[in-house]
Amino acid sequence: MAARILDGTRIAAEIRAEVTAQAKALASSGVRPGLAVVLVGHNPASEIYVRGKVKSSEEVGLYSEQHTPAESATTEDLLALIADLNRRDEIDGILVQLPLPAHVDAKKVLLAVDPAKDVDGFHPMNVGYLSTQRPGLVPCTPAGVMEILKRSAIPVAGQEAVVVGRSDIVGKPVAMLLLNQNATVTVCHSKTRDLPGVCRRADILVAAIGRPGMVTRDYVKPGATVIDVGINRITDRKEFDRFFAGNKKREETFLAKGSTLVGDVHPEVAEIAGAVTPVPGGVGPLTIAMLMANTVKAAILRRGRSIPS
Ligand code: NDP
Repeated sequence: MAARILDGTRIAAEIRAEVTAQAKALASSGVRPGLAVVLVGHNPASEIYVRGKVKSSEEVGLYSEQHTPAESATTEDLLALIADLNRRDEIDGILVQLPLPAHVDAKKVLLAVDPAKDVDGFHPMNVGYLSTQRPGLVPCTPAGVMEILKRSAIPVAGQEAVVVGRSDIVGKPVAMLLLNQNATVTVCHSKTRDLPGVCRRADILVAAIGRPGMVTRDYVKPGATVIDVGINRITDRKEFDRFFAGNKKREETFLAKGSTLVGDVHPEVAEIAGAVTPVPGGVGPLTIAMLMANTVKAAILRRGRSIPS
């Protein structure tokens, strides 16, 4: 039986509607949550992401501003900008778009962000809050993965969860969130022995690898939930055929655009999994929705209020 498709676009819209209502409620008490996005230089992919973040902020009723220091900005220039944003009370969230230019000390810049305004959840203070189950700001993509599971009524407690990937941005925080919700968690990486065998133990399999279609059907236990975090753009016809042969709709897009997106999970997995997230339209849309949610959460936490559940 074909897997249930977990519709991230619908879930993200649901979250944005809730954030809009929360922002409205805050506005009635004179608070407009504010997000500052810092984009250094001209990276075309980053420019697209930042545009999406600013547009989404406006749609849900947040205040947002963009700072665009030149490519030549130094670590000190950026530290001065962050210090100013940390000081300004109307700014609740600060997002430094990565990657930063190579000459900038990115770790130093991220460490300078006030943890209370760290809407990306990358500051070691928030990492510590997450691992000790204290209220804090959780990285957006991992938080989005958990929202998909929750809103699709997929049980987590007591389940075997396997996360492939151990990055600070995705793999590790996803693993920690699953553990905090009482899953039995295994984290895999490039040195894991018998990766397919380990993955086949999973009731919930999360792929955050960055390798197109690497997770094939022999990695998946029949009926498992498979969450595909990967976003890979493919342009090669042979590679396209390996994933999407016979898929007319995909082929039209591929021919028109010269590329298409594929996750870290091979589409054939949908034939045996119980549920899968599609790419595009799975985890991707959740990332910006959770950034909006985090900005409102930061506005609430900074003012010592409690977060409506
Ligand atoms: P990283 O490159 O930082 O981490 C990749 C991880 O995968 C590493 O831990 C690496 O292991 C592991 N890995 C790589 N190759 C293998 C292999 N052959 N077998 C087992 N493990 C392997 O990537 P990110 O975590 O930043 O991103 C992962 C994917 O998620 C990417 O496709 C990215 O585009 C996507 N992404 C999507 C987002 C969204 O909004 N949906 C947001 C962020 C990322 P090791 O540590 O040993 O090197």
